[in-house]
Amino acid sequence: MTSASARDGQAVLFASSEAHPLIKTGGLADVAASLPTALRELGHDARLILPAYPQAKRLVRELRVLSELGLKNTQGPVTLLGGLLPDRDLPVYLVDAPAYFCREGNPYTDVSGHDWGDNPERFLLFARVLARVSLGLPTIDWRPEVLHCNDWQTGLAPVFLDRYEERPATIFTVHNVAYQGLFDRATFDRLALPPALWSIGAVEFHQRMSFLKGGIVFADRTNTVSPTYADEARTSAFGCGLDGLLRQLGSRFRGILNGVDYRQWDPSRDVSLVQRYDRDSLELKTSNKLALQRLFDLPHDEHSIVLGHIGRLVEQKGIDLILDLLPKLLERGDLQIVVQGEGDRSLQQRLLEQAARHPAQLSVRIGYDESRAHLIEAGSDIFLMPSRFEPCGLNQMYSLRYGTVPIARRTGGLADTIVDTNANTLSNGQATGFLFDEANTDALWAAIERALALYRDAPDSWRQLMRTGMAQDLSWEASAQRYQDFYQEAIDARG
Ligand code: ADP
Repeated sequence: MTSASARDGQAVLFASSEAHPLIKTGGLADVAASLPTALRELGHDARLILPAYPQAKRLVRELRVLSELGLKNTQGPVTLLGGLLPDRDLPVYLVDAPAYFCREGNPYTDVSGHDWGDNPERFLLFARVLARVSLGLPTIDWRPEVLHCNDWQTGLAPVFLDRYEERPATIFTVHNVAYQGLFDRATFDRLALPPALWSIGAVEFHQRMSFLKGGIVFADRTNTVSPTYADEARTSAFGCGLDGLLRQLGSRFRGILNGVDYRQWDPSRDVSLVQRYDRDSLELKTSNKLALQRLFDLPHDEHSIVLGHIGRLVEQKGIDLILDLLPKLLERGDLQIVVQGEGDRSLQQRLLEQAARHPAQLSVRIGYDESRAHLIEAGSDIFLMPSRFEPCGLNQMYSLRYGTVPIARRTGGLADTIVDTNANTLSNGQATGFLFDEANTDALWAAIERALALYRDAPDSWRQLMRTGMAQDLSWEASAQRYQDFYQEAIDARG
């Protein structure tokens, strides 16, 4: 059985509940495909593992059976499949357990948006398989030195591995501390976990069990996805009750910024655009604006200022702030607003009602559509991201690359990737967007007014802003190197 030495590159098993282009509900899917790819480019042997959802089985190339796992106490057989991602040579393992993962819907909810009632069982099973694969399987000539777990769905894997001497180092990445995988005591009992785990020092969290806490407590190293969010998560305002634990971890917990996969997100080669463009051909961006207006049934007018928003429609993302500001925004006749997202029913409803009332200025698409998201990034002039908190955020980074100036709250990864515009940052050529501090409509409005004034009154400065944003290098390379060092630290700490 081979196990790469540091000199040969690290053998990394990257565990995720979603990965683009197999299945995606949010930023984790983008990270799950692009970080292992970037690690491979650095010479590491990174491989991905996720549940064998029907979509994943359909899309993985060269899919084959690797091992019948013979796990006890499961509903039906559990088989490990192997193959390659459809759009790149990234090896992927799929955990094929049809009773758990072969269903219509997304990884977490049924088609009507309700959490699967057996999510604890589903992700307990996933974690059991992660532990099994990490310890080595006789039918696979490969064993990871690092198991990199992501979010609560993988949180029990470091817990299970803890007692093994010959285990890989474990890394646990928290993409959002607000999603904790919390279940009641009856669920803990039903899962038949070792009773000792029901303790403050393990998975118990205020009389419930927390998958996320399990990952944080038992992993060798924990991180989140931007330096500012790592600081925020250590405070009671953002830490969702886990701030004390995160503070206790000291330097074993840190922030590593996500990167962008510019193979997917670059306007000079994006196949979803009607017209590709770059920093030296900004005028070509207009064709995408016209195409966006067509696609969203808005009047074709290149002089309208288009404000775009894409995201999960949840309170975190501040979409309610945009809704509350609509009367003021729509009062100005020169704005059009495009929103694409899905999530909270009442937010969806409010958006659709407003769009029906203002069809010439507001267009809303409820649902998930990857290629339309690319066109929104390219066709908008401004991207709105008024998140109450944002662990990293990808859309603002995509916006920067597409010359679509972001207006965002100064929090988490938004604060780490956008440079606010003021006289100083404009004159030293660093400004890339507009940041505001308070999570309220007045503060958002003030930032929008600042942006619109620059757009109208100083077109040269606006173009400078666009170009500076487009020149930012937020690729994975630097972040993948930080992960490589983090992995090595975890390996060394195990001795
Ligand atoms: P989060 O992970 O909190 O949802 P991120 O900004 O990190 O937020 O990542 C969101 C990712 O999901 C981005 O790639 C974004 O374009 C995509 N996305 C979210 N909602 C939609 C949607 N309705 N249609 C297309 N893409 C979407």
